[in-house]
Amino acid sequence: MQTTIPSDRRQRIDALGYDYTGQPRELVMTCNLCGANVLVTITHRDRYGFPAQASACARCGLTFLNPRMTAAAYGRFYDGVYRPLVSAFHGRLIDARTIQAEQREYAADRVEFVRPFIGGSGLTTMLDIGGSTGVVANHFARAFALTGTLIDPAPLEVQEARAFGLETITGLVEEHDFAGRRFDVVLICQTVDHLLDVAGTLKRVRELLTPNGYVFIDIVDFRAAYLRNWSVEDATKIDHPYYLTQDTMIAYLRRAGFEGMRVAYAADHLHVSYLCRPTQPAPQALPDPASVADLFREIRYVQNASGSR
Ligand SMILES: [Zn+2]
Repeated sequence: MQTTIPSDRRQRIDALGYDYTGQPRELVMTCNLCGANVLVTITHRDRYGFPAQASACARCGLTFLNPRMTAAAYGRFYDGVYRPLVSAFHGRLIDARTIQAEQREYAADRVEFVRPFIGGSGLTTMLDIGGSTGVVANHFARAFALTGTLIDPAPLEVQEARAFGLETITGLVEEHDFAGRRFDVVLICQTVDHLLDVAGTLKRVRELLTPNGYVFIDIVDFRAAYLRNWSVEDATKIDHPYYLTQDTMIAYLRRAGFEGMRVAYAADHLHVSYLCRPTQPAPQALPDPASVADLFREIRYVQNASGSR
């Protein structure tokens, strides 16, 4: 149980001088997954101690920061705040160089996960959304002879990706004009939680994907995150506007027109991966109401059992 932030961590975070409360933020009034407007405020601070509140939709259980920073504020956040903040949290340097070893291991794992479907499939093009330094895209490109394009909002990471010979775009997939281009494989690796509009992005991805294509997407399972720390607050962070569960991710995928072909719980017990192909959208898909009720009960149980900060 950790309901307070250790003082050495507190000092490292304070030393960055990041003015979170000075950033422009916007209030979210409707659920991005189901469109309902009854939202439940569940937390009042994040793992760094910033006064970032999270809401959960009373109908579907989707959890998200609310209010949350604007796209412009997130643009500045990824340009020089995000990695130093995560470094301060963990107490070790994490930057566009140091993350590459971890990304190589992650990439090797995920290549094997998709190999039965993508290996020898004759697919040729790939888009990596939020592709960071390109380590993962490069692994996929080499393993399956794919021509890779990478889009990411962090300039320093895109610069690293260019060295792999990938086509790179500095920006957000929600905003970039792909001018009718389509891709056979779309990767959304450790990225969906960082998006500002998950429904809009998945709709976009459905349009960007060729009819025989595949999407790989993975989530940080919110339930795993708060049960692991026995703290809902410590499972939230300003870098993640969204906190998905298996139920909300599946509902998102079905609504956007994707069916899961393969699912895996990662060795870290935190991430859940999905390989999907396009199908008819099911625009009314929702998590089962009984599991939504279970989610709220579990969140409240963890909060009640762990006391206040
Ligand atoms: Zn909802």
